[in-house]
Amino acid sequence: MSAEVINLFGHDRAGLRAALAEMGEKPFRADQLMQWIYRHGVDDFGAMTNLSLSLRDKLAEHCTVAAPEVLAHQESTDGTRKWVLAVGGEGEQAVETVFIPEGSRGSERYRGTLCISSQVGCAMDCSFCSTGKQGLSRNLTAAEIVAQLWFAAHALSGNGDLKDQRAITNVVFMGMGEPLANYAAVLTAIRVFLDDFGFGLSKRRVTVSTSGLVPFMDRLRGDCDTAMAVSLHAADDALRNELVPINRKYPLDELMAACRRYTADRGRKTHIVYEYVMLDGVNDADSQARDLAKLLGDLPAKVNLIPFNPFPGAPYERSAPARVDAFQEQLRRRNIVTTVRRTRGDDIDAACGQLVGRVTSRQRNRLGGIPVVRA
Ligand code: SAH
Ligand code: SF4
Repeated sequence: MSAEVINLFGHDRAGLRAALAEMGEKPFRADQLMQWIYRHGVDDFGAMTNLSLSLRDKLAEHCTVAAPEVLAHQESTDGTRKWVLAVGGEGEQAVETVFIPEGSRGSERYRGTLCISSQVGCAMDCSFCSTGKQGLSRNLTAAEIVAQLWFAAHALSGNGDLKDQRAITNVVFMGMGEPLANYAAVLTAIRVFLDDFGFGLSKRRVTVSTSGLVPFMDRLRGDCDTAMAVSLHAADDALRNELVPINRKYPLDELMAACRRYTADRGRKTHIVYEYVMLDGVNDADSQARDLAKLLGDLPAKVNLIPFNPFPGAPYERSAPARVDAFQEQLRRRNIVTTVRRTRGDDIDAACGQLVGRVTSRQRNRLGGIPVVRA
């Protein structure tokens, strides 16, 4: 085995089995190891008491279970929490992970969503997105993606034992980055999220949000068909080319055909959530709502209208609430279930999709100005 230390967060069950086989161990040790890490939240091999002492020593020598260092942590008055996590690399790279609780804990309607990042920056260059404006620094590794959930679950669990944590019920890839542009690492991470010996989440509770990388939407459908959100933002190619430049490569007819394939043959319950950022005077007219309804046609769809989150230098304004209501009404009249995303964690800049610009500029000042509310 190589001298490199392996971060076990980066392996799904098959990967862990292979790594253990290389150490001359039986494959079922992978199951035990995963249970220690993901059910019990244990990162210290010495505490994994049903493993032999010799295996514990071997693991300690060659492997690690390493969560990223927390650079800052904030808690909003509405319960939203944000962590800025160091991921190393040049210029002290960091990503954000945001926890958004809704409803009261324990009630049937409770939902705790963890919004995770898949890349440092993003190459897609959407014109309304601060992450896009900073370009792509690098892909996160599978370990760095999995570690975000492990870390947050740990931080939110009362006693550190992850099998008792009920805070996080859903995971969405809506932090920094385009998840389907980092496909292999995202897929490995999803496998850990879904594995019964991992986080045991159901496919419906893990959502991949994409700007529309058509070939990878098809691959995901074959590999693990999680829930899907598509960032549409415009119903005609001319405007979408401007807002979401990847549209030039995969225009709306190809994108919508991929959406149709993604939900085909999977029962009536499956739908795609179409995200639509509301930009004042750009994409928020009644006629554009009607075009959107036409585009979605008979697809199993929900629309989520997202009030634009402004950032310094952004060339757009947020649509007025009355305009958002009118747009929503147009869609509802055409029987399209449409929700408006409540802005959460405004006091800590936690809204998904606008995380990074502010973080990096603050990071440049060594995170000056970010109040760390709790250690
Ligand atoms: N790259 C993926 C997932 C991360 S972005 C994607 O684009 O789908 C998550 C969501 O936030 C996307 O729907 C994105 O379009 C939206 N978003 C980005 N910047 C935003 C902003 N300034 N205001 C509101 N929503 C924004
Ligand atoms: Fe990337 Fe999504 Fe931002 Fe577009 S909206 S630049 S795909 S993170």
